[in-house]
Amino acid sequence: MTLALPKSPVSAIMQDHCWDLDQKDPLRGMKDLFDLPEGVVYLDGNSLGALPKSVKPRLSAAVSEEWGHGLIRSWNEAGWYPAPKRAGAAIARLIGADPDEVIVCDSISVNLFKLVIAALRKRPGRKVILSETGNFPTDVYINAEAAKLMGCELRCVAPEDMEAVLAEVGEDLALLQLTHVHYKTGAIYDMAGLTRKAQALGGLVIWDLAHSAGALPVDLNGVNADFAVGCTYKYLNGGPGAPAFVFVAGRHLAGLEQPIAGWHGHAQPFVFTQDYAPHNGIEKMLAGTSPQLSLIALEEALTVFKGADMHQIRDKNRLLGDLFIHLVDQELADFGFGLASPREGDKRGSQVSLTHPDGYAIVQALIARGIIGDFRAPDILRFGFAAPYVGYEDIWASVAALKEIMMSGSWDSPAFQQQNAVT
Ligand SMILES: *Cc1c(COP(=O)(O)O)cnc(C)c1O
Repeated sequence: MTLALPKSPVSAIMQDHCWDLDQKDPLRGMKDLFDLPEGVVYLDGNSLGALPKSVKPRLSAAVSEEWGHGLIRSWNEAGWYPAPKRAGAAIARLIGADPDEVIVCDSISVNLFKLVIAALRKRPGRKVILSETGNFPTDVYINAEAAKLMGCELRCVAPEDMEAVLAEVGEDLALLQLTHVHYKTGAIYDMAGLTRKAQALGGLVIWDLAHSAGALPVDLNGVNADFAVGCTYKYLNGGPGAPAFVFVAGRHLAGLEQPIAGWHGHAQPFVFTQDYAPHNGIEKMLAGTSPQLSLIALEEALTVFKGADMHQIRDKNRLLGDLFIHLVDQELADFGFGLASPREGDKRGSQVSLTHPDGYAIVQALIARGIIGDFRAPDILRFGFAAPYVGYEDIWASVAALKEIMMSGSWDSPAFQQQNAVT
């Protein structure tokens, strides 16, 4: 069975067609695994994933039994201590890594710092970190600070210039650090090609998978990746502030020196020796004590992906995006929206971004109607399509609401101009 949009771009896609796509959707049942409020269309799973139903009882039991009753014994008896490694192994399957190459800890920011310094230490004498102008700010800040500490230079260039600048930097390249799927536009980098080119120059590569893990099939070992970081609170539904993951290719683990040498990364943390001796496995990426309740929520949330086919998830989110763009073209041509994402589905991750000078207020007006997307300054309206819980009719409803807001001008109200701290 193939799901496809009508061939002609001028044919009107009506609600019936979307309903029909939902009936034929092989992932349709997955929505029942989530606890979503009635009347909400949730298009922000790229920022904070929805709550899997089974997380609530699991977390509640963890609080009352494991913490409340088990107390300190739970580090051993409830399996708390190895949780970062166990959660890492569950994520490894989704990103083409071996279970021993991924661990869950800290935030992307902190893990990226560990990796950038560790990678630069493996390439002494090389001076350039190459990244993207417009990369997620935390990535740029961390790269810049690490470059300063290591006496290197950070060069940020536009995506279209990446390959040319890479060739120009040549053997000065220490590290290429990129976000696989762009957080604002959803544009996808050619992970295999860029990894190969950077490595051919003798450089190392760190991929940020914040908008890839749980949304697209990623094959880290298939592309011979060196290092990666990623988020668990976006498409992996780990919950607000859930810890990030870090990947180190097995061939780089021995001898890798990460700079946040905390006791949980020690070969024998409970020997309490004064001398730091790193663990020889992926555990060396740990620093301090892990947030157990968040790890418990994450491990439970990851059961949603047990047996899930990432290719099916990808096929669906691409089609949801195609449908959204098609309907925006069809219904909203007169309202001044631009498309900030690649039109071609294969070049776009699991989101579509529109531009509009009044984007902030328009997003607030949509949220007031239960259609939850988000806004990224200066003018981006971002809509994420988490395939496990977003359906085709949701896309129809979102565009219909957007059209109504634009036609009535209801977005132009003082209440929708009020800037919140988190957009
Ligand atoms: C969400 C996101 C982050 C988040 O970093 P934290 O340090 O975990 O808060 C980093 N990079 C990208 C590209 C992101 O989209």
